[in-house]
Parts: sequence; structure tokens; C-alpha cells
Amino acid sequence: MTTLTFDSLNPATGEIVGSHPKQTADAVHEAVGRAEQAATWWSGLSPAERRRRLLDYKAIIAQHIRELAALVHKETGKPVGDATLEIVLAITHIDWAARNAQKVLGRRKVSTGMIGLNLSATLEYLPLGVVGVIGPWNYPVFTPMGSIAYALAAGNAIVFKPSELTPGVGVRLAELFGEAVPEQPVFQTVTGLGETGAALAADPRVKKVAFTGSTATAKRVMAACAENLTPIVAECGGKDAFIVDADADLRAAADACLWGAMSNAGQTCVGVERVYVVDAVYDGFMRELSDRVSTIKAGDQYGPITMPGQLDIIKRHIDDATKAGKVVTGGPDSVRPPYVDPVIVEDVPEDSPAVREETFGPTITVRRTNDVHEALELANASAYGLAGTIFSGNSRRAMELARMMRSGMTAINSVISFAGVPSLPFGGVGDSGFGRIHGADGLREFARPKAISRQR
Ligand code: NAP
Repeated sequence: MTTLTFDSLNPATGEIVGSHPKQTADAVHEAVGRAEQAATWWSGLSPAERRRRLLDYKAIIAQHIRELAALVHKETGKPVGDATLEIVLAITHIDWAARNAQKVLGRRKVSTGMIGLNLSATLEYLPLGVVGVIGPWNYPVFTPMGSIAYALAAGNAIVFKPSELTPGVGVRLAELFGEAVPEQPVFQTVTGLGETGAALAADPRVKKVAFTGSTATAKRVMAACAENLTPIVAECGGKDAFIVDADADLRAAADACLWGAMSNAGQTCVGVERVYVVDAVYDGFMRELSDRVSTIKAGDQYGPITMPGQLDIIKRHIDDATKAGKVVTGGPDSVRPPYVDPVIVEDVPEDSPAVREETFGPTITVRRTNDVHEALELANASAYGLAGTIFSGNSRRAMELARMMRSGMTAINSVISFAGVPSLPFGGVGDSGFGRIHGADGLREFARPKAISRQR
């Protein structure tokens, strides 16, 4: 029987990058069967051996960094430098997961606190078995590796379904793992379109699904998982807010705001999309922003929009924002498929789609607020709650605001800095999903606590 294939395309040139099998549900189920056996073998290795193999994998990825970055560049269109950076970040996560798994998950004595009972207790975190990872295209190495490295370190086997837009690099990540661990298929990739991911989520032998993608798809994945009570960690979209307080360093804030909004052409789940600036510094901040944005052009500082369908959403939001608000930079003409130049619009009503929905493009809306409390109230009025930023010269107030921000992560006087810190948990609230990847929480996400008590 001939296997159907699909092509991945370079979004900047339209050239075919690679051809990959459209794997059927049967092929996915076979991969899960192989993964079950591999999971038994991998979880049976000593923690020290698993750590050694993962550090070998890290070294192999580092040796192939140019090849992987070139592939990410071709499949997503992003500049090679940005592709390299995401691989470096992925490497730091593999390293952290490998070195900390035993410390976080290993057996330890627990005080029972039971007065009068001679009871001792231990707690440890055991592997789940097969973990299904479903990934997006925007950071096709860094994002899935935030689940894969931690699930592997916790002793699980992986079946990974990369986005149909970036299958080549997904296949390569598993092939390279095979160089560090040739004995068993501990990390496999299945390629295909959404149906391939759906078959993975529906397989009852998959003990957890790590999903990263849009909120709408997360709901479909959850529905498939519900059939077997398969737990899921859902890393979904965002509409991150950026607050500028009265005593903020405006130059640093403008630099961070533009980097957070425009890098990767805005195709970042934790990208800046809404900016709230207090009245006292509004004009000064806008001057700094306008000076800098005039030097940014799509195709020079950042690449194309990777997913053709996303251009329609970005265009709709730009049309909507420019009709309802006051243009600072760009407008409908900024959309030059597959590129979009920066767009900044002021005074867009808070209930318009450009402010409420994820745009996933190099666009921001900016609003003047009476004070920082109003800014926080508006920031928190989103259905999403992935991350956010606060620029303030008052460190105590900044910390208070950060704690009150309805988001999984907040950066103070920097932007998106938490993503590169492997010890910090990554994830959101509300429509941005639930569960955590990265850090100790990310390791525990892929393990089950086992409690044992003993009467002495
Ligand atoms: P997507 O369209 O939701 O797709 C994500 C993955 O799900 C892809 O591999 C996709 O496969 C697969 N899929 C589609 N339908 C499925 C189904 N019914 N069952 C199982 N899997 C299915 O998202 P995307 O466009 O690739 O990525 C962009 C989104 O990801 C944005 O919303 C962004 O904010 C979010 N994101 C979140 C994070 C985070 O950590 N919170 C990080 C990065 C991106 P196909 O490609 O074949 O459709």
C-alpha cells in the first residue's frame, strides 16, 4: 500500500523543504505499542544512566546546532540567529531536566506528623509510561523540548507529533535521540496533519498528553483524552499585557516592548500584544516607541508569517484596530504576504477583536491609563492569562502588581525572561491552559506520586 505524504514548505520562498508520511491512526497505534515496550526498558535504567544518556543527547544536539537551525529557518522562515537561539534554550532545558530529575522525583522520607503512631513514610515520583507530545510550529524545537526533555528525564517514552508545518525538525530531534539511546525507540516522531495528533490523543495506552497549540485545538484534544481519562497539560495561546508605570525607565521599556512584540514576527505565545501606559509618561513612552519602530522592517529584523492562514487573522485585527483606533505605525498596507511590517495602534476599544483575541503577529495596541491600577485592571480583563510584563522604577510596587497580574508568569523590567530560565514553571491560566512545563513542576507533571507508609 502506498503511503500518502505531505510537503513542508519554506514560507518565505514557497520551496518544498521536505516530504513526510501522513501517518494513519494505525501507524500511530503501532508507534505507541513500540513506545510502551521502550518505556518499560527506559524506566528500568538507573536514574544515573538516564541522566548520562540525556546529557549525551544534549551534546549531540549541540553538535548539530547548525543543521537544526538551518532546518528551523527553512520550515518557519525565521532568521537563522533566532533559530539558533531557540535551540540553545532547548539545550539548557535538556541539561536542567537531566541534572535535576533524581533530586526532584527520587524517593525521600516524609515526616508523617502522626502523634502516637509509629509510622514512617516515603514519597517518590514514578514514570507514567508513554507520553504523547503534540507541538506547534512557532518554536518547533524549544517548545516541544520543554515537555519532551522533562518527560524523558522522568523516565517516560515519547511519541511526538510535530506541527504539519515543521515536521522535518521534529523527525530530526527523535533521530538524534536515537544516537544517544540506540537500544529502544524511547523517543519516536509521527508525522501527519491534525488527524495524526487526534489518533495519538485517543490512544488509551498514552498516559499523558502534553499539548502546545491554540486554545481551540486544546479543547478538541481534551475531548479525545476524556474518553480514556487521559490527563493533559495544555499550553495554549496568550494576549500578553505590558504595563509601563510612571517611574519606569522609558528607553528600556520601549526596547523591551518592541522586542517582545516583534521578534519572531509576533508569533510567540508570550509575545506582547497589549500595552497599557500611565498618563504621566504616556507621551514620553510613545516617542521612544515611535523612534525605535521606524527602524524595524519585516524581512530584515524578523521573518515571514509561517502559517498562511494566520495572515487572515492578523489582517482582520489590523483592519479592525485601524478603523476603531488611531494609527501610530503601519496599517492595512503593512501586510505584504508572507511578511507583516510592525503595526502600532492607540485607543482601540477594549472589546474589539484586536484587543480580545490572540493576533500572533507583529502588532500592538496601546492605551493610556489614569494610573497603574487601571492598567492592571485592563491587563487582567483578558480571557487569556499566559504571561505579562511590568516596567516600574518602584520595585515594591512592581512586585505587588506582578503578584496581582492574572498570568502564569510575569517579568519585571524585562520581557519574556522566564522562558529561558529552566528552573521556573511555564504555563498559564484561563484560556492560556493549565498544568506546567519546565522546572520541578514540569518534571512532576510527567510522573505520578507514589506514597508508601510503614508501621514500625
Ligand atoms: P494548533 O493549530 O492548535 O496546532 C497545534 C498542534 O496540534 C499541531 O501539531 C496540530 O497538528 C495539532 N492538532 C490539530 N488538530 C488536532 C486534533 N484534533 N487533535 C490533536 N492534535 C491536533 O496551533 P499552532 O498553530 O501549531 O500553534 C500556534 C498556537 O500555539 C498559538 O495559539 C500559540 O499561542 C500557541 N503556543 C503556545 C505555547 C505555550 O507554551 N503556551 C507555545 C507555543 C505556541 P497540525 O499541524 O497537523 O494541524
